[in-house]
Amino acid sequence: MNEETQGDAPTEGAGDLSDCRILDSEGETIEVDVLGPWIAFLCEDCGHPVLAAALPNLRGSDPAHPAVCRACGHEYFLDLRWEERRLYICTPGHGD
Ligand SMILES: [Zn+2]
Repeated sequence: MNEETQGDAPTEGAGDLSDCRILDSEGETIEVDVLGPWIAFLCEDCGHPVLAAALPNLRGSDPAHPAVCRACGHEYFLDLRWEERRLYICTPGHGD
């Protein structure tokens, strides 16, 4: 395949997730759809689609701005680690 590499490394908050591995809070790779800073995934509780963004103050960007499952109310936020090229989809206050 023809893989184009761009010169500049993504900076913090640049918001393009396509280079990242997407993992759930337990470190398992999960099925997602990514477009730039946006990520769509299925609710781990009910399977409803959830949309989140790795942009400041948008839904899912941090625990204070969670993306909420519209079916069951489960909350998610994105824990982005550029240096590892990893994105964790976490649930705030998800104790056990
Ligand atoms: Zn749900």
